Amino acid sequence: MSATCIECGSKAALVGGERIYPHRPDLYAKSFWLCVCGAYCGCHSGTTNPLGYPCGVETRKARSAAHTAFDPIWKRKEMDRRAAYAWLAKETGIPAPDCHIGMMTEAQARSVVQAVNKREFAA
Ligand SMILES: [Zn+2]
Repeated sequence: MSATCIECGSKAALVGGERIYPHRPDLYAKSFWLCVCGAYCGCHSGTTNPLGYPCGVETRKARSAAHTAFDPIWKRKEMDRRAAYAWLAKETGIPAPDCHIGMMTEAQARSVVQAVNKREFAA
């Protein structure tokens, strides 16, 4: 198992939680994939299988903004979650099987916010 960094394309290394969260001893037993550039991602619980691809702080922020913009569309039940993601895939041009905010690059996550804003202003 290996993980390739979404930011720089380097191969990440498997490390313990103490390398990522030195102030969180409760996470020391968990595994993370850490890149030389500082990007990282967590693992599926109890395994060393990466949750996605290692990413850096700007990507994390952009994804978080994407969730804040996008999630209300299906939480408010304007569409169901499936339909909302289908709409998002069409708007951003990201193929539906890859259209998950947790997998997105910084630029893709920003395009989510733009698509939602465009939709709100058009309504
Ligand atoms: Zn990297």
